Amino acid sequence: MTIGAKKVAAMGRVPRLAGAALLAAACVGIASSAGPPEVAEAESGLSVREAASDRGLVAARCATGQICVRLGGKEGGVSRLELHARSRGAGSRLWLRLACHERWNGRWKGASLRLVAGESFSKPVEVADTLHLERFEWIDAAPLPEVPDGAEIDLGLEWLSGAAVDVDQWAVLAARARPDPAWSPRVWIDGSEGGPLEVRECDGASVFDGEWVMKLLRESRDDVALLLGASPPPLFLFALRAGDGALDAGPAFQNRFGIFVREDELHLPWRSYAHEISHVFEEQSGVPLPWFLSEGIAGAVDLVVTARRFGREDWTRERELALDRLLVEGDAFHQPGAAAVNPAFLLQRAPADADGRRSAYEWSTALVFAAARTGGDGFFRRLHAGIAEHGVDFVRDVRGERDGLAAAALAGRVLSEAAGADLAELFRSAGLPAAAP
Ligand SMILES: [Zn+2]
Repeated sequence: MTIGAKKVAAMGRVPRLAGAALLAAACVGIASSAGPPEVAEAESGLSVREAASDRGLVAARCATGQICVRLGGKEGGVSRLELHARSRGAGSRLWLRLACHERWNGRWKGASLRLVAGESFSKPVEVADTLHLERFEWIDAAPLPEVPDGAEIDLGLEWLSGAAVDVDQWAVLAARARPDPAWSPRVWIDGSEGGPLEVRECDGASVFDGEWVMKLLRESRDDVALLLGASPPPLFLFALRAGDGALDAGPAFQNRFGIFVREDELHLPWRSYAHEISHVFEEQSGVPLPWFLSEGIAGAVDLVVTARRFGREDWTRERELALDRLLVEGDAFHQPGAAAVNPAFLLQRAPADADGRRSAYEWSTALVFAAARTGGDGFFRRLHAGIAEHGVDFVRDVRGERDGLAAAALAGRVLSEAAGADLAELFRSAGLPAAAP
């Protein structure tokens, strides 16, 4: 499948560029797809949605809310992207803003593309892994054919092999010119200690104070690392526009090494940071956990980190009381001591209805937090190590053919080992299935 994209940026109409920058920004386009080629005026910084939505030309949507063109990969990517450009003199080059990462520890690292023009011009474009599907970076892709300054060129960007590549902006720049950061959403980077940390604005979102958000992110990440006794992974915070549909189910979510937080909750780290960061450490360990254990650990880690870091004792005490009450009184999911297994511990994902959802999260957190209290100091560290130790068993039980009972029972065993105590009474009351003798 081939899609065409034909864009010419009118230099005089690029409002945010001035002086020397105008020369550099010879042609800043947005990779959009078009049926019959057409020339469109484009300002730098336009999102693909703005440029293309009216014409229904969407090739792929990234969770950040931007629309990009996907080249290659298994999910319907196109094999060739057409770009219409204007040469910027000798040595002018094509720059691409792109993200390249397989979704789930795929085999591929990076991708190979090819830039072609006419019959005879062909240059390889090697794309490095950007570590996250939402992490768009400008790359200096390839030189353009030597044609007179200002000459128009039709370029084809072809996908050859590797991972899918999402392209959301492109530019033809004069030799040695660089893309202006103002063309793209803002990024704050801190590579000082531990894994790299980044705060990134997504389409339409605004980060009120990148340095402050970075500080909150670093503290939360380091607190969770200390608690789990784990080395910090790379961590990317994507600030989403409030009202983005991706956040319908809650204030934040996580995938891979990214956490996604509403722009208007960035200053409220206790609402989501430690919880989502706990999932990032889980992702790093590569062990698939039963849903309730994953959420229970995230919920309990959040309680501990929030109490320590922010001194929100009242909030923590209230949460503890509510969790204890659930264990004693039960709810629609489970009555304490009932013979039936608590359905919250057999879930594979969060229930769709709000009540069931809340209840499932509460049961998960209550169980892990009760085990943590019994285990005392070092519980989370031992738990994190225990999960790694039982990694093979979790893979078999969570991803394998066996039913959820085996995975839940294994989770109970790992929790007991981390607590250094027999938690059979807690598990029996809460409805966690026992491990086979
Ligand atoms: Zn969670």
